Amino acid sequence: MAGKSSPKGRKQTCSRSRFPPVLITPTTPANRTQRKPYAAKNIPGKGKGIVAKRKIRSGTELMVERAIFVARDFDSTNLIHTKLRALSVNVNGLSNAARRGILSLSHAPYQLTEWKKVVPPTHPLYDPAFIDMMVKIESNCFIIPVPGGRGLRSAAQDVGIFEETSRFNHSCDPNAAWETSHENSTIKVWAEKDIEIGEEIEISYIAVLEDTTVEQRASQLRGWMDKCLCNKCKGERKRSECGK
Ligand SMILES: [Zn+2]
Repeated sequence: MAGKSSPKGRKQTCSRSRFPPVLITPTTPANRTQRKPYAAKNIPGKGKGIVAKRKIRSGTELMVERAIFVARDFDSTNLIHTKLRALSVNVNGLSNAARRGILSLSHAPYQLTEWKKVVPPTHPLYDPAFIDMMVKIESNCFIIPVPGGRGLRSAAQDVGIFEETSRFNHSCDPNAAWETSHENSTIKVWAEKDIEIGEEIEISYIAVLEDTTVEQRASQLRGWMDKCLCNKCKGERKRSECGK
């Protein structure tokens, strides 16, 4: 599970497993904010991203979005066959709107490779449409810590898909932050820095950013990208090449 984990909780560590969540509960989309200060645009080398339409002050709330579905009680210790069986039932139970929302998202090539290993053509659950759905979920889910849980590596955590929030690209030096709420299955995104018109708004997909090397972050980001293209990583790679 390549669930995105918020850097806001510094004690959290990135949870990673190729195994899917167990139960999926469809939820209704939240009312979308009117007059958004950002829009989706093509970003060179990154596909689509979110760009500021006006100057945004640090601390401004950018969105609160409800999950289009939540996978409860993700437990990385469950047997894969148990999970796959549960998922195949629950994914089939998704509303058409939630299904369309998930399938409209982009996916990480790594997740497709991994899922093809997990469910090869000889597997009883092999179905290209099912794999497509799982790959989209793995590439885009955000971790929702369960209050009183024992941390992100324990059984007590959920993951959710937030269609609009998934459009934000990653940066290891993000100008926006996010936090999920277990109580109402929402995610909140706000500006952590002043953001200029035309500037890309980026969040972090990984929990620990400080005191890490570019290699350590690359390892944590493996589920989403081969090479992080954020300015922080590009700068560190350049400095290390110059130092050789
Ligand atoms: Zn980076």
